[in-house]
Amino acid sequence: MKTAINKQMVISIMAMVLLVILTGCSSTTESSETEKEETKRPILIQGPMPIEAENFAERLEDVEIEESGTTFEFYIGTVDGYPVIVSKTGKGMENTAAATAIAIEKYNPVAIINQGTSGGHDPELNVFDIVLGKRTVNIGSMKTRDRAEGEGIEATEWKPMDVMASEGSAGEDPDAEKARYYDADSELLTAANKVKESYTKGKVVEGTIGSADLWNNEVDRISWFHENYGTSVEEMESASSAMISKAYDVPFLAIRILSNNKTNDGAYNPDTAAANQEYVYEVVQEYIRFLESK
Ligand code: SAH
Repeated sequence: MKTAINKQMVISIMAMVLLVILTGCSSTTESSETEKEETKRPILIQGPMPIEAENFAERLEDVEIEESGTTFEFYIGTVDGYPVIVSKTGKGMENTAAATAIAIEKYNPVAIINQGTSGGHDPELNVFDIVLGKRTVNIGSMKTRDRAEGEGIEATEWKPMDVMASEGSAGEDPDAEKARYYDADSELLTAANKVKESYTKGKVVEGTIGSADLWNNEVDRISWFHENYGTSVEEMESASSAMISKAYDVPFLAIRILSNNKTNDGAYNPDTAAANQEYVYEVVQEYIRFLESK
């Protein structure tokens, strides 16, 4: 009797040990696989208006839509099996800054591409040409000269103002009297340059993208920015996203197509928004190849 119980006990202990070992093994493989999936941080593609985000969003696979507040929409899906999120940010600097911070906190992106339409500052660029933002700059951040009552307004004398120059007063600090340029991430820029031959509706060039909540229609003012800031195009979002991406150390690139150019009578064409997304899709595929080869 005693021996029988002992034998039974030994068998069940052995079975339990085996079970523990097996469960241990399978949970190790499971967790390392999940870890691998989790290390695939998504690529974030931002577009301000519906026409600047929805074409790309439609090309995503396995899409789920998440919303934040009433303005921000995130299309969460994949491209070639790699996680990609399209973010419809809304127009302008504030919407873009908020959408960027929300996306970084919620989704931990590996890289951010801000893309959409723009207005030409360079007469050499035509509607449907694309500018890869080697640099982005806030062209609305300015300090006026001192002028007393009745001395008028002289916009060409205004100086650039760098709100990031110090924690002190930008209005008093002479070191803040300069434009702050945000450099593009070199690996994103390389990926974009690699696929530029795939774009046939215009040329793809590197340049400087100026952003502000402003639409300039004065050709002299446009030329003033072109000469003083070196801007190729203007729009309302990229520098804002670049600033927040930098604050979190996330690689950033802006890709902007010309939808209009006052300097050479290039009339506004909304079809440019879709053309840009087609090119950005190629860039994303190339960047995924780069990430997967690392
Ligand atoms: N609400 C304004 C502007 C709308 S379009 C109006 O109705 O007139 C603005 C969008 O187009 C922004 O997202 C901006 O990034 C882009 N854009 C295209 N061309 C632009 C230009 N010449 N100047 C500023 N933004 C431009």
